[in-house]
Amino acid sequence: MISHKTSNSVGDEFKSLWQATSTQLEIDSFEDNLDCDILIIGAGFTGLSAALHLSELEQDVVVVDAVEPGYGASGRNGGQVIPGLKLYPEEVRKKLGDEKGNAVINATNGSADLVFNLIKKYQIDCKANRNGFIQPAFSNTSCGVIRSRVELLSKLGAPVELLDKETTAEYLGTNSYFIALLDKRGGSLQPLSYARGLAKAAIRQGVKIYSNALVNKIKPLQDRWQASTQKASINANRILICTNGYSDLNNNPGLWPGLNRSIIPLHSFQVATQPLSNKLRQSILPHGHVASDTKRLLNYFRLDHEGRLILGGSGNIYEGKSIRDFSHIVRRIQSLYPQITEPQFEFYWSGKIALTMSGLPHIHEMAPGVYSGLGYNGRGVGMATLMGQWLAELVTDGDQIPGMLPLTTIKPIKLQSFRKPVITAAYFWKSLQDRVEGRQKPI
Ligand SMILES: Cc1cc2nc3c(=O)[nH]c(=O)nc-3n(C[C@H](O)[C@H](O)[C@H](O)COP(=O)(O)OP(=O)(O)OC[C@H]3O[C@@H](n4cnc5c(N)ncnc54)[C@H](O)[C@@H]3O)c2cc1C
Repeated sequence: MISHKTSNSVGDEFKSLWQATSTQLEIDSFEDNLDCDILIIGAGFTGLSAALHLSELEQDVVVVDAVEPGYGASGRNGGQVIPGLKLYPEEVRKKLGDEKGNAVINATNGSADLVFNLIKKYQIDCKANRNGFIQPAFSNTSCGVIRSRVELLSKLGAPVELLDKETTAEYLGTNSYFIALLDKRGGSLQPLSYARGLAKAAIRQGVKIYSNALVNKIKPLQDRWQASTQKASINANRILICTNGYSDLNNNPGLWPGLNRSIIPLHSFQVATQPLSNKLRQSILPHGHVASDTKRLLNYFRLDHEGRLILGGSGNIYEGKSIRDFSHIVRRIQSLYPQITEPQFEFYWSGKIALTMSGLPHIHEMAPGVYSGLGYNGRGVGMATLMGQWLAELVTDGDQIPGMLPLTTIKPIKLQSFRKPVITAAYFWKSLQDRVEGRQKPI
């Protein structure tokens, strides 16, 4: 086995902030045939959380990643730990009915607790802070949404507050928003360090993790399964596929029929400034909150532990290839924070989120003993960690998991081949709606 350091390969075209500031991880390359009870394909939060939870149940687990742990969205995201689903609770109930919907809302509301508890339990060094999540409203219409969200979460006993315009402006350091939801359960972390920390904890618990293992075929082998890469294969009794927005990595449709077409992968772009001056830090997010606004094409922003402002935004079907591709994000920073007069932008990077048609994540049972969990719609730090726990329970015969989303079969999205023009049109339509709605004057 060749041992190599995974320090320089996250963020294909551009080195991400997280790659530059992460803890390190030594991991073996996959070279030889293996046999295990449970194979996990994909070492992001979903796969690594599943592995860690399975290790607590003393299962024999192997994890493989096409590149390395945290290569996908888990090592590139905004590091905002936000409890619950992206879909608003009333929409969850509409889709799942009141009883199931309420159970799912309750369970997914615990996702931030799960993240921070794992970090504490396994002493994961990932600059975690639980200073709260702010969701500011950018229009009158979205003020209504925020007010009803605060009311509903309060009824569920969540520690939330409605911030008025002045407090919102003070906490965010910008006058661009009307009111906001403050959810004290949320917080921030260094996502690549969190992914690597989960991997280290799983390895300490006996899980074997390998990099450079692009699985290109899964086939039945008597009453077991065989997953193959170009170099070697792994025989397993059960398989968890945790490849999310990277399910078509290297145009690899062979992983499982239809899986890569069951979600819409979309690039999200981020830019980080150089560390801000102490004076600016006292006015911009001075209490260490993280924030994601209510726009259809949302802005999400926070400071890192060294005071860099990081802002991300819903992106594109294309990866950022040159700094020009990030100019819409730079413009958003300049518009939200004109007080940063000479921002030096230090990092530019992108990653793929996985959208679903329903707005809910999917858990599939594709064949006996083969499961997949994916489709977090950009809200996956907590949710993918929770999904990993659900998958671990499912694959070890837990049939009544409280609050778990319903098990479904894969439904490839129709017209996937036209997705590029359709997504581009949807992007411009949403941006236009945001612009029109954003012109509303406060009432
Ligand atoms: C730019 C960006 C910002 C985001 N910001 C936030 C945020 O602030 N808060 C939040 O809650 N969520 C955020 N998200 C969403 C969150 O990052 C994801 O939902 C979550 O990381 C998904 O984790 P995952 O393990 O399911 O998938 P991933 O982390 O994408 O991991 C999939 C893994 O599968 C591997 N793989 C793929 N194919 C194969 C194969 N054939 N064989 C072997 N391995 C394979 C890949 O190499 C990859 O490592 C953001 C996402 C992006 C892209």
